[in-house]
Amino acid sequence: MIVSLYNALSKSVQPVKPLTEGEISIYSCGPTVYNTAHIGNMRSFLFADILQRVMRVVGGYGVRWVMNITDIDDKTIADSAMGSSSWPKELGAQVDDSMVNLRRLTEYYSEMFLNDIARLGIERKHFLAMPRATDYIDEMRNLTQKIIDAGYGYVSGGSVYFNVAAYRKTHTYGRIFHVDMENFREGVRIDADEYDRDSVSDFVLWKARKGNEPFWDFTVAGENLPGRPGWHIECSAMSKQLLGLPFDVHTGGVDNRFPHHEDELAQCCAGYHIVEQATFWCHGEFLEVDGGKMSKSLNNFYTVTDLLERGLDIRDVRFSLISGHYRNKLNFTFDGVVAAGKTRIRIQQLIWQLLKKTNLKSYIGSDISVLGEPLFLQQSVYTALAEDLHMPRALAELFSALPKIMIAELDISQATQYLEVLWGVNCVLNVWEFTEQIFAEIPEHVAKIASARWLAKSEKRWADADALRDEIASNGFVMKDGKDGYTLEPVP
Ligand code: AMP
Ligand code: ZN
Repeated sequence: MIVSLYNALSKSVQPVKPLTEGEISIYSCGPTVYNTAHIGNMRSFLFADILQRVMRVVGGYGVRWVMNITDIDDKTIADSAMGSSSWPKELGAQVDDSMVNLRRLTEYYSEMFLNDIARLGIERKHFLAMPRATDYIDEMRNLTQKIIDAGYGYVSGGSVYFNVAAYRKTHTYGRIFHVDMENFREGVRIDADEYDRDSVSDFVLWKARKGNEPFWDFTVAGENLPGRPGWHIECSAMSKQLLGLPFDVHTGGVDNRFPHHEDELAQCCAGYHIVEQATFWCHGEFLEVDGGKMSKSLNNFYTVTDLLERGLDIRDVRFSLISGHYRNKLNFTFDGVVAAGKTRIRIQQLIWQLLKKTNLKSYIGSDISVLGEPLFLQQSVYTALAEDLHMPRALAELFSALPKIMIAELDISQATQYLEVLWGVNCVLNVWEFTEQIFAEIPEHVAKIASARWLAKSEKRWADADALRDEIASNGFVMKDGKDGYTLEPVP
């Protein structure tokens, strides 16, 4: 099936025609590993995960998916600097080598990130590569030199800057995100990796070393410029190196449109002499809390670990984060995750019933042909996903079919076909199990702790309730709270 996506370049939904037949290449701007990623960040990576899964399952393409890890930028440098209050205690004392400190900090948070995305059902096997920026410094220096040679870059104060005015004489600046050039401050230079649209000016390609910062040498016109790459050039260089240019789809969060993606594109066009870096530029909207963006700076964020510690099921978290349309804002609430869980379990129950009906302990997709109602269901769900990843419609199609599936009236072949269809849908959503339901006995002492906790909670004795929840967890159970009651489930 042809998949269509909203393209920030054309500002419209367009069918994706792969540059190489049968294959889609995707580059996703990944995390900056200076801190634990929060579930807002995760929404943006889950959007990319759904996109690449839809390409595989609905589009039938092979996918080459690259997500970078930004391990050198203003934030990683600041947080690994000697004496930084953000240095994680778990890492012990810092050493007298800023490069080693940077590496230790970023490796620590990269591991945490990889662990969190795995828990959220983003599978490592789907990535072609997850490059760390510091492993591609050569290509970044190379591109910076090319930009200077082409007349779009210049040295000033030991740094190298992109000359936006020169670029605008030959190219359009503002193709991804409309930039009001009234605010363009010609000749003004900006060093920060992140800046807003009111600060359009010459941005930094290579940043001169300050103090004791980690650095690499870079000789330009016979002069050594010890420093490090700007954030934007990292993705230009890595995407070229790993996917080749142009590639099919570039993803990120909406805040990446400007300046990050605009500058990435300008650098590629200026230095590599190409017309397009990527055919499609796609952006995921924010996860919000109380009407504002979830972000570290507002301190209104939750991490994956926070949610698990509150007893939420990680599959419910994934389901709730992917269930809205990626181009709409999504408001995060705990009740929202619990409600998503109640919806998710309805399909899980159907899968269990189908397994029982077919006398199977488990099911693995086997490309059996599906016909009739199962085929109709598959087509309607896939069609919605193919139309700009319309997850709410896909889910509506799925759930509206539920009452029509009469297990008692299905023969084994039809039941197997439904399993096959749900297996396919789950290859995109990745929130259901295809193994038979196992009922665990709830030991009496666990049931007692649970009712004590429910009482503590209703009396707002939060510390007691938390301690009792931990006791339940140490007995191998998760207590899931609803509005009027709770359930106990074995830890998955
Ligand atoms: P960072 O680690 O800060 O570079 O952010 C990684 C990704 O998370 C970027 O693509 C951001 O656009 C995205 N992001 C940050 N905050 C949110 C949020 N509240 N909702 C969705 N995506 C976000
Ligand atoms: Zn990027």
